[in-house]
Amino acid sequence: MIWILRKLRYSITASLRSINKQKQLKQALLATSLCNSLRANTTHPPFTMSNNVRSQDLPLSGVARDGWSTETEATATCFCGAVQVVVPIVAPGLVNTFVCNCFDCRKVTASMFASNFTIDNSYLKYIRGEDNITRWGQSKTPASGTEMTNGFCKTCGTLMYRRSELFPNKSYMRIGTVDDFNLHETKLKPQAEIFTDSRVNWWHGVEGAKAMPGPFKTASM
Ligand SMILES: [Zn+2]
Ligand SMILES: [Zn+2]
Repeated sequence: MIWILRKLRYSITASLRSINKQKQLKQALLATSLCNSLRANTTHPPFTMSNNVRSQDLPLSGVARDGWSTETEATATCFCGAVQVVVPIVAPGLVNTFVCNCFDCRKVTASMFASNFTIDNSYLKYIRGEDNITRWGQSKTPASGTEMTNGFCKTCGTLMYRRSELFPNKSYMRIGTVDDFNLHETKLKPQAEIFTDSRVNWWHGVEGAKAMPGPFKTASM
């Protein structure tokens, strides 16, 4: 009798294991087909220049795999991939590149500083997700006393840009959102560092960058 009960328990456990395995397999297949359909939907702009970078050459970061760059433009994408824009990486669309140590940047990035590049808004193009951006701003803490507005992806919370009431035709983009990581080391490398007087004391700043204790002077914007 005990032997029969043991045998029965063994066969029930084995069939439960098999059901679990089937469930896991189904989930894996679903994930793969979702990834494939995401890849299938990706589009690339026409490539005409020699050193263009396509998605397959980019490091794995975030969910979207359809980033790219050319000599003059690059995609910037949020962590979940819902928002993707094209930004200029050369002047005059690209205004400057800088690290900001101000206390607002600490809070808004949840880190110790922000790595930014400023662009002229007339060069900013949305590939997708403009309606997936939520905006929030305040004027209490920016050094200028004017409102800074932050644009976040509604889904994943990535801060895509900041805008100042003082310079409404400019956006302060985040270098880390640019899909081609080579650009973080080259064209988008910070050339200036501002609010060095607020810099965290265990970090010694961007080597070679023009250091300023406070904000940019208006003329350099
Ligand atoms: Zn997102
Ligand atoms: Zn700042």
